[in-house]
Amino acid sequence: MKIMWDKGHGGNDPGAVANGLQEKQLTHKIVEYAMAYLEANYTGFEQRVTRTGDQTLTLSQRTDMANAWGADVFISTHVNAGKGTGFESYIYNGGVSSQTVALQNVLHNEILTAMRQFGNITDRGKKRANYAVLRETKMPAVLTENLFIDSNDAKYLKNEAFLKAVGEAHARGIVKFLGLPRKEKTQPQPKPQQKVSDGKLYRVQVGAFADRKNAEQIAEELKKKGYPVYIAE
Ligand SMILES: [Zn+2]
Repeated sequence: MKIMWDKGHGGNDPGAVANGLQEKQLTHKIVEYAMAYLEANYTGFEQRVTRTGDQTLTLSQRTDMANAWGADVFISTHVNAGKGTGFESYIYNGGVSSQTVALQNVLHNEILTAMRQFGNITDRGKKRANYAVLRETKMPAVLTENLFIDSNDAKYLKNEAFLKAVGEAHARGIVKFLGLPRKEKTQPQPKPQQKVSDGKLYRVQVGAFADRKNAEQIAEELKKKGYPVYIAE
């Protein structure tokens, strides 16, 4: 499964700017949190992002990337302006598949639920519009407007924990839509005994004991934890 993330705006287009915040920076953070969460917890997918840093991109460059790659979903993140309040999501207002509607439903609900852990967030609804990134993408595509940068909503957007929760909610919505499996928890790997860097080798002594039995007891515990251990006299 291929996930295409789109960070709204970027480079010489900051998007909406107010209250010391820039939309392009907020969309960057939300997507980075989403991608890190997927990488850490789920498998069975590849993900790409339209801009890794602060590049300037046209709308058609963004949709071309998704179409050329053959992405299965396209998620464009934005922050609203116009002194309103609340969260809304968009799909294309022309012909859309039932899959697109399903993606909007699951994303909208996940994100709103996550936001409401932080306060009373208005649900502005699941909307439709003739936005280029929704119209020109060939796969289910949703655009999210994550609160208003120029109203009291800004207090949430200044909270890093809020941005993280919103990013992770985007990720969970996609997980549910695509049915991605959780990553198996990997067993802690035995630590290497020696780390080789500049050709020198360093050993770490864990204890010194008068009684060999005490040394053996510690050695046993360390072995159980996966460390290679030896006892020297
Ligand atoms: Zn925007």
